[in-house]
Amino acid sequence: MSVMDAVQALDAQYVLQTYRRAPIVLSRGCGSWLFDADDRAYLDFLSGIGVASLGHAHPRLAQALGDQAQTLLHTSNLFFHPLQGRLAARLAALSGLPRAFFCNSGTEAVEACLKLARRYWSTAGRPRPGLVALEHGFHGRTCGSLALTFHESYRAPFEPLLSDVTFISPGDPAAVAAAMTEATAAIVLEPIQGEGGVRPLTPAFAGAVAQACQRTGALLIADDVQCGLGRTGPPVDFSALGRRPDLVAVGKARGAGVPVGAALSSQAVADAISPGDHGSTYGGNLLACRAALVFLDELIDGGVLDHVRDVGARLSLALQAWPARHRAIVDVRGAGLMQGIELAFDAAPVVEAARARGLLVNATAQRVVRLLPPLTISHAEIDEGLMRLEAAILDVSEGRTA
Ligand SMILES: *Cc1c(COP(=O)(O)O)cnc(C)c1O
Repeated sequence: MSVMDAVQALDAQYVLQTYRRAPIVLSRGCGSWLFDADDRAYLDFLSGIGVASLGHAHPRLAQALGDQAQTLLHTSNLFFHPLQGRLAARLAALSGLPRAFFCNSGTEAVEACLKLARRYWSTAGRPRPGLVALEHGFHGRTCGSLALTFHESYRAPFEPLLSDVTFISPGDPAAVAAAMTEATAAIVLEPIQGEGGVRPLTPAFAGAVAQACQRTGALLIADDVQCGLGRTGPPVDFSALGRRPDLVAVGKARGAGVPVGAALSSQAVADAISPGDHGSTYGGNLLACRAALVFLDELIDGGVLDHVRDVGARLSLALQAWPARHRAIVDVRGAGLMQGIELAFDAAPVVEAARARGLLVNATAQRVVRLLPPLTISHAEIDEGLMRLEAAILDVSEGRTA
């Protein structure tokens, strides 16, 4: 039996079948490259959905995690440990939001933002039930985040979820003022929608949101889980929002592969919170904090952020030329190292053709090929990946197999 067959058989028999997996077994990585069980190499333009931000087997990260494992991994939040405050201080300096709550995933970060927003209004003695979210938005799979996730197919089997969620179209700035009232606790949005097909908010929409928050007092929650922490350039991507959010959810890239999440909050929201209001057993443990500190060191002091600016500009410049070159390409959108290529047909066959050519990407919103390479990817690797991707698009649009 091949390794592939053995792995698939165990998965099919014992793992809950919630995923449609591509038929390869990834067994090791190095920088921007992944290797399957037969040692076939794949250039990684996905980084585990924007998570392996420093690439694979990053030497400094590996060293730090090994060292941390030999020192202390976990204490619970019943005690202090030396790393959480240091990490929170770094995040505060980066984001301008002075407080951090640590958790373990993106969906938990969004849940924390929701609870903190509700708590803010209940502490004020004026509970507000309403939440506003965006069409095509994605915020995670737990029941609160799921209630804010637009597509029916994610939500319908699990209803009833949170009530009082109003979805509005990000293409319709006028809808913001109509949806947001003095019963709205918060509006939740991704500055660049990820799962929804890599769609940046327009300045007109962001402006309408800022105005409605001002008018109604509703809190602004930015879900930066996918687009934040350097992927699109600015470390916390609310430069485009025209207003500093009251709460920001971060995750994915921040642990460089170690599961982490955080809700960053304004002082006004933090002032409404008391001990016992929220918590997490693992949240902010030493392993997670050590990983995140290495990530932020590399991002800011190690020059990764500057590198993303360069290499992201190279990627978007190259992609901008594609719609004119290929009738199969309808649109190219995104910022920095978060790019989406909208096709005139389903993206899944292109993802497969790319994999056959040794390139990993994924499909989102049916017709969009999404690129989320490691933030450390080199210029030469960007060029190589684009060459393979263009060939894969031609494979499918011209009906040839690779
Ligand atoms: C991935 C994602 C989430 C959920 O993160 P998990 O770590 O899978 O729970 C939430 N919001 C956005 C914008 C995401 O891209």
